[in-house]
Amino acid sequence: MKFIADCHLGKIAKYLRIFGFDTLYFQSIDDDDIIEIAQKEERVLLTSDKVLYERMRHHNALYLAHAGFEEHLREIFYHYKLFDKVKPLSICIKCNGELEEIDKLEIIDELKAKTKKYFDTFARCKECGRVYWHGDHYKNMLKFVDEFIAKYKKETEF
Ligand SMILES: [Zn+2]
Repeated sequence: MKFIADCHLGKIAKYLRIFGFDTLYFQSIDDDDIIEIAQKEERVLLTSDKVLYERMRHHNALYLAHAGFEEHLREIFYHYKLFDKVKPLSICIKCNGELEEIDKLEIIDELKAKTKKYFDTFARCKECGRVYWHGDHYKNMLKFVDEFIAKYKKETEF
């Protein structure tokens, strides 16, 4: 399941990546281009733009009406049954590249003293090279993922 989010849905795109879903996002992009990419790469278009949605409705698109961020995320998860497909932190939050686990020794020179001292598991983005580790930021993201699933998954099981 791959997505492309319109330019109003940056936060949604970020969180879909946190959950491990391949999601393209551009801060600025023409409707024609977004449609072309969605069709060519067989991505689901997520949009809060009615005009854009109308152009894509016969393909795979989900219209997200005015609602809060969590409502949108929930709607996407229900619609595409994503609860069992979550793979947290397998995708780079910054660029949507794939993350691979790496040996600490490979990047030891790039790390700050405290990170070097307290953390042993690292992953690096194959595209942009950004390095991730199990620090507080990572833990907060996992906590959000766990809580989101605990809160909403049950509702789908009857
Ligand atoms: Zn990256």
